Parts: sequence; C-alpha cells; structure tokens
Amino acid sequence: NRQITLASRPVGAPTADNFRTLETPVPTPADGQLLLRNVYLSLDPYMRGRMSDAPSYTAPVGIGEVMGAGTVARVEVSRRPDFRVGDLVLAHGGWQDYALSDGSGLQRLDADMAQPSLALGVLGMPGFTAYMGLLDIGQPKAGETVVVAAASGAVGSVVGQIGKLKGCRVVGIAGGPEKCRYVVDELGFDACIDHRAPDFAQQLEAACADGIDVYYENVGGAVFDAVLPLLNAKARIPVCGLIAHYNDTRLPPGPDRLGLLTRTLLTRRIKMQGFIIFDDYGDRFGEFLTQMSDWVTQGKIKFREDIVDGLENAPQAFIGLLEGHNFGKLVVRLVPE
Ligand code: NDP
Repeated sequence: NRQITLASRPVGAPTADNFRTLETPVPTPADGQLLLRNVYLSLDPYMRGRMSDAPSYTAPVGIGEVMGAGTVARVEVSRRPDFRVGDLVLAHGGWQDYALSDGSGLQRLDADMAQPSLALGVLGMPGFTAYMGLLDIGQPKAGETVVVAAASGAVGSVVGQIGKLKGCRVVGIAGGPEKCRYVVDELGFDACIDHRAPDFAQQLEAACADGIDVYYENVGGAVFDAVLPLLNAKARIPVCGLIAHYNDTRLPPGPDRLGLLTRTLLTRRIKMQGFIIFDDYGDRFGEFLTQMSDWVTQGKIKFREDIVDGLENAPQAFIGLLEGHNFGKLVVRLVPE
C-alpha cells in the first residue's frame, strides 16, 4: 500500500520535499469495516491550506499523516452488511492506494457509472461549489455581467456555464491563450481575458462595458485589483477561493488598499460573502446533483478533466495546480482502466 504523507510544512510554494512516499502493508479490515481500493484521487487547491498549520476552518494534516483527499473507490473487502465487494463509493480515501472505512461519510455511486471520476468534478464538490456560490450568493439575473477567474478550471468552468444558462453576459479570466480559447469556443463564455497579458486590466474593462454585477472570486490578487473599479452598484461577490494567495507567507507590500475596498463596498452597496461548500450547503447536495446531472446529460454543461496517471505523480501534479499547469479538473488515476 503506497501512502503519500506530509513530511514538512511548506514555506511559500510546496515542493516535492514536503511529501514522503511510504510502502506499508495493505490493512486488514476489522468487523464493521471496509477495505477500499482508491481508483481516482481528487487534487484540489484547498489541500494547500491543510498543509499549513495557520488557523483555518478545519484542522491541518499532521506531519507524518497521509494527505487527505476525496476519492472514488471500490470496496475490496467488506465486513459490513450494507456494502458488498465491488461497490463503487465516493470516500475520503486520501493519497494512498488502500484505505479502511467504517462506512461513515461514504456516498454510493452507480457501480456501472460510465465516468466515475466526474463524482470528483462537475458532479461532485467543485460543481456543487460553483452552483451554490453563483446561484445562492451571486444571484445572477438575465442581462447582468458575471466575471469569474480560473475560468477553465473545475469550479470556474461551471460558474460561467451556469451564468450563461441564466442569461447573463459571462466574462472569464484564465492563464494563457489556449485556456482562453477553450473557455470561449467550447464552454460558450462571451469573452475570456488572459490574466498574464500586460494590459489585462484594460482588456477586462473593455470586455465589461456595462460593468460587473457578479464577481465570483476564485483567485484574489491582481485579478481582484482589476475587478474592483468595474463593480456596479449592488454587485455581489461570492468569495469562494483566493488561490493567488495560498502560498503567501506575509501580506504583500503596500500601499494599504483596505480603505479603498471598504469604501467601494459602502458607496456601491456591494455584498461580499465567503462560503465553505459542505459546511454551508451540505443539505442541498441532492438538489444540485439532480439539476447538474440533467444539465450534463443534455450537454448544457460541458467539462474537461486533466487526468494524471499514478499515485507517485500526485505531489508534482498538486504543485502544478497552484501554478496553473492543470487544464480542467485535476484527477489522479490510481488503477488503469
Ligand atoms: P482549478 O481547476 O481552477 O485550478 C486552479 C487554477 O487557478 C489554476 O489552473 C490557475 O488557472 C488558477 N490560478 C492559480 N494561480 C493563479 C493566480 N495567481 N491568478 C489567477 N489564477 C490563478 O481549481 P478549482 O476549480 O478546484 O478551484 C478554484 C477555486 O475555488 C480555488 O480558489 C479553490 O480554493 C476554490 N474552492 C473553494 C471551495 C469552497 O468551499 N469555498 C470549494 C472548492 C474550491 P489559470 O491558468 O487559468 O490561471
């Protein structure tokens, strides 16, 4: 059983040295337990927060502990009456080949599901995050302008497509021309701006001629700086993530723009609200899954996966995720099909 543990806490960007790979015996389930074989492992930006012991909404991974992660897994041995060998489940299986489970927190998946990895992406946590953040906090109305960054990624791609289904003008922001082309040509956004372009702020302003009514915040940093002056009165800002800051070790150098931010919120009567998806909306997953499954089946929501083969490649893939090397929902395949 290969396990990837947290060897040390990163200072700034994580490196390969922060992870350690162990070979341990495959565990034996006790009465009431299951042995799960992880098939797909989800890599997500929040894991950077768990590697750090700074105060957060949940406890960090301990040094020497297996890195946590959502997985799609098969029941390999069952010592429980409610699960059978071969059942497919969504689990918190972690960065390892095998995991023990007492059955709690497992979500059953259709054993014949054509693409089980989607339970980690568009039909799982990231899709759910996009759906609730945009619809419940963003409250988009037809004709309004929605802006979202990390627009080709797991969350952003779904945010923009739901915005289009609601009749909005949708402007994406992504890293590089290839991602921007995909966002417009394949996902159907009205425009997509490359945040690495030297004239990024001017291009964003030109693409948002009527200002911004919903800014779905995934990144922070220079993107938020460019968005702030374009926000309309009564704009809504669901604060979902701040990936541009996850590797920060201190506040950026001045000038202090906090007063500018709060003045903008006040004078334009803007609502800015953070959320943690399962803590705040856990009871609405069923509603989301029904709606999103329909949209995906009907081809109204498209998705792209970035599948990396082999558990041993998880650390490098995760490091790349924070730098924009992924193109679509990043998933590690542990068992070849
Ligand atoms: P993505 O699949 O979008 O991958 C991350 C992307 O972030 C990269 O590909 C890169 O895209 C972009 N990025 C990285 N650094 C920067 C930067 N400095 N400026 C602009 N863009 C950057 O990840 P997810 O869709 O899984 O996550 C998106 C956001 O949603 C994250 O902030 C995450 O933490 C948050 N999240 C929050 C949840 C919640 O409950 N609040 C739940 C799930 C996710 P590019 O190349 O286009 O720049």
